[in-house]
Amino acid sequence: MELDVGDVGQAVSTGTLPGWDRVEELVAAAWHRNRDLRAGEVADYIPILAEVDPELFGVCVAEVDGGIHLAGDADHPFSIQSISKAFVYALVCDAVGHQVVLDRVGVDNTGLPFNSVMAVELNDGHPRNPMVNAGALATTALVPGATPAAKWTFIQDGLARFAGRPLPLDEQVYASEAATNQRNRAIARLLESYGRIDTDPLAVVDVYTRQCALLVSARDLAVMGATLADGGVNPVTGERVVAASVCQDTLAVLAASGLYERSGEWLYEIGVPGKSGVAGGIVTVAPGKAGIGTFSPRLDGAGNSVRGQRATAYLSRALGLNVFASDVRTPDGRSST
Ligand code: GLU
Repeated sequence: MELDVGDVGQAVSTGTLPGWDRVEELVAAAWHRNRDLRAGEVADYIPILAEVDPELFGVCVAEVDGGIHLAGDADHPFSIQSISKAFVYALVCDAVGHQVVLDRVGVDNTGLPFNSVMAVELNDGHPRNPMVNAGALATTALVPGATPAAKWTFIQDGLARFAGRPLPLDEQVYASEAATNQRNRAIARLLESYGRIDTDPLAVVDVYTRQCALLVSARDLAVMGATLADGGVNPVTGERVVAASVCQDTLAVLAASGLYERSGEWLYEIGVPGKSGVAGGIVTVAPGKAGIGTFSPRLDGAGNSVRGQRATAYLSRALGLNVFASDVRTPDGRSST
């Protein structure tokens, strides 16, 4: 992955963002310097996703004090797709507890593509990674609710609390994926055969397909990310959505697996937990500081937005978000940077 961030330098993770005007400037720069990039392809395995305007590009940073910085098409709606996995995971951990989700789903990257059946087979039916389809289906199966409708309400309400506004379902995206998701149905049946889903697997796939078809914008993703950065409290509405410990668990999982089989490369280059989706969104979470939402539909070979990765790399450097970058100060006042 080539992430040209220019000469912005490497700001260390300082504990706070720079001042308002500087963040405004950097969000605009993250957009400007990548807007002419055309690399990548839009997803087309869900037929309707291929109809998107590939030029759309939005960037948003939401600070943990509720401040919002926007550039480009930051309010353009698109389907959340796989990014829903991060927030449903948090809601399920909050509802059923850390250990249940750890035992049933796991927290490790499989190193295989998002829709891999082989990953399930190679691990004796253990999904391992909640950020790809098998693990996400096993997670959605754990959503509280006696009926699929109750589970769906739980998810739609929960994601709305993360975003601070109701998130509509894109009926066309839902219908397009529901007509073509034979592979996800096969994965759910396979998980059922291994005892990893103990409710109707096709009903689980239906709820999962709906959760992926919820409409968000880059601004929504930034606020949702900022809620995870803010110990589970939405910084815009002030509402507690999940416990602080759940944010910690979720961010650890995103660090390991948020960018499909390129998660290691993302963490190495960008140094903050994130989650991408095949409609072109990426949410990134800088704990204690901010959430970043980006939207640009052209994807790399793993399914990650090309411009979204570049814009986020730039912001991570310039805003000092990399959680591995430190400025050690010795007792005599010397600094390591
Ligand atoms: N709804 C998509 C699927 O299940 C999500 C894929 C993704 O964004 O990774 O195939």
